[in-house]
Amino acid sequence: MTRFTSSPGVNNRSQADRPIRVAVVGGGIAGVTAAWELRKRLGPEAHILIAEAYDRLGGKLKTVNFANGPVDMGAEAFMGLRQDFVDLVREVGLGDQLRTPSSDRPSGFFVDGKLVDIPRGTLMGIPATGASVAEVVGPEAAARIDAERSGAPMTWEPGQDVSVGQLVEARLGRVVVDRMVTPLLGGVYSTAADDLGVRATIPQLAEVLDERGAGGAEFYLIDVVQQLLDQRAAKAAHTDAGARPPMFYGFESGYRRLIDALRAQSGAEVLYNTGVESIGRNNDGWYLEPIGFVDAVILAAPAPTTSVLLQDVAPVAAEAMRSIDLASSVVVGMRFASAYGIPERSGVLLGPDAPTEAKAFTFSSRKWPHLEQRGGAFVRASFGTFRDPWYVEADDRALVAYALDDLEKITGERKKPEEYFVQRWWGGIPRYGVGYMERINEAFQDVRDIRGLALAGSMLSGVGVPATAATGRAAAAEIAEEMGWNN
Ligand SMILES: Cc1cc2nc3c(=O)[nH]c(=O)nc-3n(C[C@H](O)[C@H](O)[C@H](O)COP(=O)(O)OP(=O)(O)OC[C@H]3O[C@@H](n4cnc5c(N)ncnc54)[C@H](O)[C@@H]3O)c2cc1C
Repeated sequence: MTRFTSSPGVNNRSQADRPIRVAVVGGGIAGVTAAWELRKRLGPEAHILIAEAYDRLGGKLKTVNFANGPVDMGAEAFMGLRQDFVDLVREVGLGDQLRTPSSDRPSGFFVDGKLVDIPRGTLMGIPATGASVAEVVGPEAAARIDAERSGAPMTWEPGQDVSVGQLVEARLGRVVVDRMVTPLLGGVYSTAADDLGVRATIPQLAEVLDERGAGGAEFYLIDVVQQLLDQRAAKAAHTDAGARPPMFYGFESGYRRLIDALRAQSGAEVLYNTGVESIGRNNDGWYLEPIGFVDAVILAAPAPTTSVLLQDVAPVAAEAMRSIDLASSVVVGMRFASAYGIPERSGVLLGPDAPTEAKAFTFSSRKWPHLEQRGGAFVRASFGTFRDPWYVEADDRALVAYALDDLEKITGERKKPEEYFVQRWWGGIPRYGVGYMERINEAFQDVRDIRGLALAGSMLSGVGVPATAATGRAAAAEIAEEMGWNN
């Protein structure tokens, strides 16, 4: 391992004396992107280090080699709307790796023993009319949605926050939460709607609720949802169909290619199996145990670790990070010799009242033409949410058996995989609960004026890969700016 020795007055010394030294703690997408952005800003001489606790980079991005090719076992896609991330992928030379999902195989819900289309025209599963979701929620629950306007209106104090589940249950009924909102939001956050905050997960809804609720005005939730859906439709109508970005992208050879490219182009020295245990400051700059002295540091590890590392230097931020829970999950990837019986859909989302252990299946080879071309079929089963994390403790055979049993319930076919891979994601995704953004703002405020320290990671501004990568770039920009290092 590289060890830096202490040298007096690092920050006062002219940079010509020796190269700038910056450490990035954590080699997930946030950390690796931060290293890449640092290189662009600091130039070729800077000594950039990535300290990674495990023996590989990527964190929640992990590509596994199956007999007929690589497949992602963590994130497998990203939102096409994030042009900044598409540009980054192209800039590192991987534009030709980008793939789009099949357009004619939408995901579905499993309702009363059959697969149905996910209703269009909802706001993360929150409907504006009963008719739009009747097939999924049933006639009684659909009638209850429309009846909202016959009951007492709601009020909303601008700036307040509640859980999405609580809001939707109170206004539209429990069935809408369990059959619509939790499967859709849970697919992103591994957490039920009851444990997710409106402000952190559907900010556009919070914004309109603030507007409508000003001055104690009364209104109905379905009207707010309709307003947002109308705005979305108007925006879409103004965009030329040909100019609309694809909903999602994935990588032909998996996210590994991106991590490899970012690492290589960052020119960073990677310290594998190096968990940073503490950070501290003195006149020499920053001291990281067990690395030594550096001039600046970017913390890009998950929130609980970041909390521990911040406790002496930014106690308010440390407390904010400590309050962030993580949701664990498991992905079981299975390769089958034939696609027989696999539905012609990208996947299926399964709510808490579905008769399955799995919370979702991705029919990967139906979803992605580049995987279908390999022959046979590839399926990913996902288990576990914030409230039922015990799946990560189950053994491989039990998890594969659940996956095959559930697949049989959904498709009527008993299938046997040629090979499988079980990936446990301990603390996979931060829980964006009630009051979450306030805590994140507190953390930012506390760290903002600390010279040579910046934060990055999926706990800051959304769990998606593009948002997370953007935090790495922003952290690198902040460091370069405050240290006066921009190349
Ligand atoms: C199953 C699953 C599926 C997902 N699917 C999608 C998807 O399809 N699309 C999408 O956009 N997003 C998806 N996400 C979300 C996305 O993958 C993550 O939010 C993102 O990859 C997190 O990146 P990160 O760099 O913040 O953290 P991580 O990937 O967690 O990286 C943090 C790194 O820090 C290291 N570390 C921890 N402690 C220390 C220490 N003390 N010292 C040094 N290193 C340390 C860890 O080992 C890890 O490598 C998914 C997530 C999961 C779990």
